Amino acid sequence: MHTFTFMGTAAGCGVPSFFCDCPACAEARADARLARGDCGVMVRRAGLPEDRTPTLVIDTPPDARHQLLREGVRHVDEILFTHCHFDHIGGLGEYEYLVQLVRSGKELPVRGSAEALQGIVAEFHYMDYCLDLHAIEPFGTHVFDEVRYTALPVTHAPGTYGYLIETPSTRLFYASDTGPLPAETAERIRGVDVLVMDATFWKRNWNPNNHHSIQECIAEGLALDAGKIYLTHMCMHYDEPITYAQLVAYLERYDGRVEAAMDGLSITI
Ligand SMILES: [Zn+2]
Ligand SMILES: [Zn+2]
Ligand SMILES: [Zn+2]
Repeated sequence: MHTFTFMGTAAGCGVPSFFCDCPACAEARADARLARGDCGVMVRRAGLPEDRTPTLVIDTPPDARHQLLREGVRHVDEILFTHCHFDHIGGLGEYEYLVQLVRSGKELPVRGSAEALQGIVAEFHYMDYCLDLHAIEPFGTHVFDEVRYTALPVTHAPGTYGYLIETPSTRLFYASDTGPLPAETAERIRGVDVLVMDATFWKRNWNPNNHHSIQECIAEGLALDAGKIYLTHMCMHYDEPITYAQLVAYLERYDGRVEAAMDGLSITI
């Protein structure tokens, strides 16, 4: 068994945003459990001591250091990237000393689309000695610690992937940044046990070709017959703020099938 942990669940500028005093940010300032850092997840084998647990992260958001400390992570073995926007790669620099001090200089395997890797190299050129880069083709797969990761194209920046994550017990699709799914991707994930998808906006979607609103995420997830739907990459305060308390009340109509992900939430897969 493996655990899938939400390291961060916010879009772009986090909740609270340093410049924002909307009700959603005020709520997260008053209760740190409701704060959201930028989006990323971690997959690890369950039940092994921390220093022997194979560990893979998807994306290295700017908050990576705090997220890794919060989860008590002492090492990371591999990184997959969804794409190379700042909110998904900004914390890669935190891994430089992991390579130097823990891995004795052994490069960290890093995977993503050719476009994503190109963007990462441009931003983090000084870390080229730390990273062992491997491009994944669209629909290509990578197996790590008995978990299969399949890179499925989504609608966002060029070269953005969602990852179909398959263990012996669970099929989970993780797509933190996407508009409506391309037809082939949608077909491949139909009927997944767990769908974790972009739910950036509450109601009005400013970028309908690149992101989902909460309502669109739920509608597409239900149409795909996903077993359980987790909303992630949530802004909570673009256009019209929504507090966590209001969101939970809104989601009650789905009888537990739809849940707002939280930073630090772990599920078994
Ligand atoms: Zn706000
Ligand atoms: Zn993005
Ligand atoms: Zn993003």
